[in-house]
Amino acid sequence: MAEKFQALKKAIEEDGPLPDGFWGASQPKCPHCGEICDISDNDWYRLYDEGEHEVECPHCDGEFTVSTRVSHSFDTCEQEAMDDEDDEAGQGKEAGNARSVD
Ligand SMILES: [Zn+2]
Repeated sequence: MAEKFQALKKAIEEDGPLPDGFWGASQPKCPHCGEICDISDNDWYRLYDEGEHEVECPHCDGEFTVSTRVSHSFDTCEQEAMDDEDDEAGQGKEAGNARSVD
């Protein structure tokens, strides 16, 4: 193994304190060797839990910490009950173009 945290140190030098790939990434990137560590390939599903996790890189065997941030988003733009009202409210300018496909 090369110098510890070599990849991360280099990335911080080039990109600043939140370097691309080491921050907000979809897969953890090893701070030692810079390889992407695939969660499903490594059975690292515990990484989906919010918090800090100690792992060992499958590429260079270096140990490092993965900090997981979980975010939730909520959609309310699809409402089934809204279909009932479309007949009255939805017809505007182009009512003449309505075709029935039989
Ligand atoms: Zn590594």
